[in-house]
Amino acid sequence: MTFADLHLHTRYSDGTYTPAELVSAARSVGLSEISLTDHDTLDGCDEVKTLAADAGIGFIPGTEITAELDGRELHILGYFVDAQHPDLARELRAAQDIRRKRVKDMVARLNAREIPLSVDAVLELANCSAPGRPHVARALVAAGICTSLDEAFDRFLKKDRPGWVPKRKMSAARALELIHAAGGVAVMAHPGLNHDDRMVSRLARMGVDGLECHHPKHGPAAVARYEEMARELGLVVTGGSDCHGMSKARPTIGTVKIPTIRVDALRERLAQRREGRPLTPAPGAPASNPVAPSTAADLPASPP
Ligand code: AMP
Ligand code: ZN
Ligand code: FE
Ligand code: FE
Repeated sequence: MTFADLHLHTRYSDGTYTPAELVSAARSVGLSEISLTDHDTLDGCDEVKTLAADAGIGFIPGTEITAELDGRELHILGYFVDAQHPDLARELRAAQDIRRKRVKDMVARLNAREIPLSVDAVLELANCSAPGRPHVARALVAAGICTSLDEAFDRFLKKDRPGWVPKRKMSAARALELIHAAGGVAVMAHPGLNHDDRMVSRLARMGVDGLECHHPKHGPAAVARYEEMARELGLVVTGGSDCHGMSKARPTIGTVKIPTIRVDALRERLAQRREGRPLTPAPGAPASNPVAPSTAADLPASPP
């Protein structure tokens, strides 16, 4: 059996791996197929695609769009999208502008608390189009103001801490519309981090194509529950490690893999959309794919 990981980050957003490091890690854990899903950007896809091809690894272009539904943040993965699609490209640029503005606002709030951090330091360290809180945290550590990323989040960056600034997000409906308009398929990321399973059925009615049942923060019970929901709602089962490189104690790549037969199901769904055929799996249809192994332990949920 061959395996895929459909949720990976690089330095093009808040991961620590370069594209070359990501592909090398993918090869060393034996992946046959990968997707790059950096937050609100497709910038790294060309580079990873070339490197993956050299390594004999299949590549699917992707992005993880920050969205909201009923005032709650959720992440929607867009796969096989055309990075040049004007509407998608424009709205990703807008999301990136919002991220840069948010970094400025966060730094201003910290400065008002006598924390000496500069916007330039954060943006230079981020060196990408999708800066975010992890980069502010890294800059706080680099400046010697905090000793760890966790400390930076706990003291300054979590909701209602001194550096906290709410994030403006696009609506989930718009994210789905953009992904489909750009020729892709949409998957709800890590439903276990949203603490409200009703979001899954709402998104299914709105036209989401798949559900990320396999994720490091989903224990065996959650995986089973989401696989059952996917079956009932007619969604393709996907998964990935959500690896951010060395930003956690250990890179998560390799801990969550899905059989590539799942990716074939996603590709079939893509072909159905592009050709205007009826969508499968149909709601309530028996699962046709083997259940993927989940090696992750039951972990407490934390922010996505
Ligand atoms: P943002 O989208 O800018 O609000 O940042 C969210 C990102 O921060 C997510 O990708 C999380 O992985 C990361 N994050 C949240 N809490 C922590 C933490 N305690 N330590 C490190 N990263 C965190
Ligand atoms: Zn991230
Ligand atoms: Fe992610
Ligand atoms: Fe996420």
